[in-house]
Amino acid sequence: MLNFKQEITKRTRERVNNQLKSVLKTGNFNFDVHTHIFNKDYIPDKYFGIRIPFLVNADFLMQLESLMDFISLDEDDKFSNYAYFIDFLSKNSMEEIALELIKKCPENTIFCPLMMDFYPGITGAKKGIMEQLDEMKTVRDKYPDKFLPFVAISPENKDHLKAFEKAFSKEYNFFGVKIYPSLGYMPSHPNLMNIYEICTNYDIPVITHSGSGTVHSSYNKLNLVYYEINDDDDNNNLILKNERKNFYFKKQYERYFNNPGNWKPVLKTFPDLRLNLAHFGGDSEWDKNLKNDKEWISETINLMESYPNVYSDVSYVFHIPEMHDKFIELYKLNKKVAERTLFGTDFYMVEVEGHFNNLRKKFIEKTGNEIMHKISVVNPLNFLNLTNFVPKNIRKKWQKQTL
Ligand SMILES: [Zn+2]
Repeated sequence: MLNFKQEITKRTRERVNNQLKSVLKTGNFNFDVHTHIFNKDYIPDKYFGIRIPFLVNADFLMQLESLMDFISLDEDDKFSNYAYFIDFLSKNSMEEIALELIKKCPENTIFCPLMMDFYPGITGAKKGIMEQLDEMKTVRDKYPDKFLPFVAISPENKDHLKAFEKAFSKEYNFFGVKIYPSLGYMPSHPNLMNIYEICTNYDIPVITHSGSGTVHSSYNKLNLVYYEINDDDDNNNLILKNERKNFYFKKQYERYFNNPGNWKPVLKTFPDLRLNLAHFGGDSEWDKNLKNDKEWISETINLMESYPNVYSDVSYVFHIPEMHDKFIELYKLNKKVAERTLFGTDFYMVEVEGHFNNLRKKFIEKTGNEIMHKISVVNPLNFLNLTNFVPKNIRKKWQKQTL
């Protein structure tokens, strides 16, 4: 296992501060396990897969925003959604975004804010991962009972181990790890395998982007190093692959890197890893207008059935109205889906699809109290290994309510 110069936290209970402990003790809280609070300083010019250097120019953003406000009268208008999204992007600090998030959610919500490290997949961000780590810590320290931060690990960023060590030092005390494969690496990258080993041994949860999405590496030719399960071997041992691959279209990156099946060699090696395959297959698999074979939804469920700590979240995809009924049906049909689905929103990314409050409200109203309690309280507690912080009598009451 990797050795660090500094001592890192080895147990969940070391990562939970006293303020959060007292909230958990009340039994009166809910989770949003998938949110983002990074601002424009951490976003490269080429964020949307095309060059838009002016997006990070504050003056331009303001002009664009007022223009969009002017032309969009309908609340559900796409332009107005973009205006809201851009409004978040252009905030001056992560704390400003964090405050908006707190304001929009019930008082007792606990958030997992996920960092994002675009480097080296997309270069050009004003500030780097170590600065984001510090700013995230500042926000968490200011609202200690609200945030369980996840550090982004980009395996080819030379600072990735430094970031990991700092994040899990006693001083920084972060809670989990965030992975984003379409930025140009496979989930079974050797550097990540070293990280998962620590995550498994020290109970650190991992959240990965898994599903469709616009964000991908800006390079067309990529050298990929990763482990694969060797089908020719009787024991299905792993082999290290080294390949050079060309990518030309957005969809190619997405289909290649974000496939939940890419996690098989990881889970074979670390079957107890706490893993959230976020977005439950992604937008295109839940959209009823797109005829799709739902391959990634089934693969996600498959992995839930094969491994004890594999979860998924409804973040972003919950904006699709047709998804609500389909999800409820799946929840009632499949016990693993009921036990391993987490509530997350993907704040503020999802603002592109509509106003956050409306989207959130519609999903919650449709799914109802019972399912919401399970996916936003009981399941996140299990995924994050926090269940024991809630007194037994309260948990017993919950069980009776749902019987
Ligand atoms: Zn996200």
